[in-house]
Amino acid sequence: MGGRWVGDNRYATRSMTKESSSAKSSGSQNGQVMPDAQVLAASSVESGTSEGPAERGRTLAYLSRIPVERVKGLGGKYGGMLKKGGIVSVMDLLFHFPRRTIDRTLKPPFSEIPLGEEVTAIGTVTRVSTRRPRAKLTIIEVTLTDGNSPLIVTFFNQPWLARQLPEGTEVAISGVVDRVRGRLQMKPKAVDVLSGSTEALVTGRVVPVYATVNKVGQAMLRRAIHNALQRSRPIADPVPERILEALDLISRDQAFADIHFPEEKIDEGPARRRLAFDELYRLELALAIRKHQQLARSQGVQHDVTAGLVQAFLESLPYQLTGAQENAISEIQADMASSHPMHRLLQGEVGSGKTVVALAALLTAVQSGFQGAVMAPTEVLAEQHYLGMKPLCDEVGVRMGLLTGSTADRESVLSDIAGGRLDIVVGTHALIQQGVHFSSLAMAVIDEQHRFGVHQRVQLREKGEDTDPDLLIMTATPIPRTLAMTAYGDLDVTELDEMPPGRSPVETSVLPLADENVAWAAVEEEVAAGRQAFVVCPLVDDSETVEAASAVAEHARLSRIFAGLEVGLLHGQLPSVEKERVMERMRAGEIDVLVATTVIEVGIDIPNATLMVIEDAQRFGLSQLHQLRGRVGRGEWPGRCIAISDAPWKLTDKGVVANPDGKARLEVYASSTDGFVLAEADLRIRKQGTVLGERQSGVPDLKLANILDDHDILAAARQEAFALVEIDPDLAHHQELREDLRVVLGDSGEFLLHS
Ligand code: ADP
Ligand code: MG
Repeated sequence: MGGRWVGDNRYATRSMTKESSSAKSSGSQNGQVMPDAQVLAASSVESGTSEGPAERGRTLAYLSRIPVERVKGLGGKYGGMLKKGGIVSVMDLLFHFPRRTIDRTLKPPFSEIPLGEEVTAIGTVTRVSTRRPRAKLTIIEVTLTDGNSPLIVTFFNQPWLARQLPEGTEVAISGVVDRVRGRLQMKPKAVDVLSGSTEALVTGRVVPVYATVNKVGQAMLRRAIHNALQRSRPIADPVPERILEALDLISRDQAFADIHFPEEKIDEGPARRRLAFDELYRLELALAIRKHQQLARSQGVQHDVTAGLVQAFLESLPYQLTGAQENAISEIQADMASSHPMHRLLQGEVGSGKTVVALAALLTAVQSGFQGAVMAPTEVLAEQHYLGMKPLCDEVGVRMGLLTGSTADRESVLSDIAGGRLDIVVGTHALIQQGVHFSSLAMAVIDEQHRFGVHQRVQLREKGEDTDPDLLIMTATPIPRTLAMTAYGDLDVTELDEMPPGRSPVETSVLPLADENVAWAAVEEEVAAGRQAFVVCPLVDDSETVEAASAVAEHARLSRIFAGLEVGLLHGQLPSVEKERVMERMRAGEIDVLVATTVIEVGIDIPNATLMVIEDAQRFGLSQLHQLRGRVGRGEWPGRCIAISDAPWKLTDKGVVANPDGKARLEVYASSTDGFVLAEADLRIRKQGTVLGERQSGVPDLKLANILDDHDILAAARQEAFALVEIDPDLAHHQELREDLRVVLGDSGEFLLHS
């Protein structure tokens, strides 16, 4: 079957000459989208395993099976190098999108080149001179001519160029030209040697610039991708035409062609938009399928929501539930009463009272004769939850246990869990390790979900015996709607959009480092009034050890500054008994100022703490800053937050905008206490990739789509995907789409489709 790929060289050796462009246009003609009915009819005999007949186009599944070595020019060592760099198939090559494009449609004489903007000069090398004014500096000056006037291009520390650009070489060099002492000079950004075979790819057109892959250079990549594209077209389109029309999307075939080698200086928007849609549509299909499977396949417990335990618990609380809490509990109980396992996200502002809601869910399981579990991302938080929930459980006679990596009487806790002598267990990852057996787990709460991946969610769910436990995922970091549609897209969402009465927003100010004394004076003031304060240490790097060292040093320094006060220290490297002791002393009011790392970020509940000082605040993410601030003002007194930073922050009138260096976040931080605004700003400032990746392993990468800016396509893709899965749950009647998911999403696709 590969014969046609290697053997048929009709177009493979050509560059963009007349013949190949006619091949190209016949391709796009063939690439026209098919009517819906035809796609449906054809899909059951999908061509993925065959040659990919040209009338229907070649599917990505088909292209994923053609090894990269089969592409003209990649038979030798380059194919191997690409493979090592992760580009294994023709499909991978097509998905290696350009980082940018250079407009070389025009070829102005040097004398007419506009100054000060990026242009391409095409000419012949007439002179190359190399100078070495200093040991570590090589300057190569290349003089080009366009037949009339000279242009001088200066390269620094690229000595090999002297060999690559001998006199007489035809080159296309892009860069910015200026007139220096009467002569035209260019600061080069991209150099392409023109030779018969490549010239058509790098001059007289819009030229793609690729990230090099495992040392395979620009020229080779361009040729390889161009060849691969020629031989792949027409590329089949599995997306129903109705959808393409409704969203005004171009064909997949055209989109791949235009994103790599646009015919002329065209707007790349439509190609990018189409391929971004594909990414989002695949993602949403996968999520829709997963959600459907979760509902259909798994058998959940029908909990008893009327028994008296939850009622007794709510009556034992010293306050009235907010309306939002009441709604949340009834949504959750409706899920729990049904035979489908719950997959629900509970999100709400810091301090909105999620713990009580989670407890009501756990106690619903207990009153139905089952066990509940709470999984938290850190030991400190697990202990905090345990300490916070235990008295409430004691009140209603429910037995609660704690299991973390450092639980001393581990064996007896394990046996109590297995023997059903504990009703609710709070813990860390330790809960999902082997050797932990529940007698009847039927309700699992995961706190601060973004630190766990999908896989861990599944592992916890599997701790249930014959039935899947209901799952409630709590996050204190509000999730922008776009993320709720992607990273959390298979969950139902409950929002606590109301704060308990009497809470005032934490007043926040930003202070330059030179004025840090103002912050320390504020600390003394609060302590004098009987309150307590936190000082969060600079985030040195991601290593807990280094962070701990910085906390130790800062603790020593602040102990001298606050000579008369009790200054405590908390960081992740402390033994857990020590951590517990510190938290106990803080809760008891024995510590005035707690110097800590971000271990206190989540969940810490000290009602008497009113001041949060954050050092080097520009180093933290917005959501993280918001979390930190949420640790104060939780009792009867309002909270204050002082962020110390030497970042040169600036205000813009656009509100939430990404500042290249990320420091804009402090402005936003001080000006808004709305977690949603901050979460969205955070997403904009940080790279979405890291956000999606960190928050939810198992969610595919988005290369082109930007979930904030492509919000409309995302919403449409989600709606279409869920509608399709509703009528064709495992895409049995849309095999092309299913194959598309499987091959493009790779491992995460397998996971989504089979979990
Ligand atoms: P979070 O949503 O940040 O997890 P918590 O559940 O820790 O919030 O609750 C924050 C504080 O508010 C706790 O001290 C809790 O006792 C208190 N609280 C919760 N619900 C109410 C309510 N309805 N009225 C008054 N206080 C409440
Ligand atoms: Mg909480």
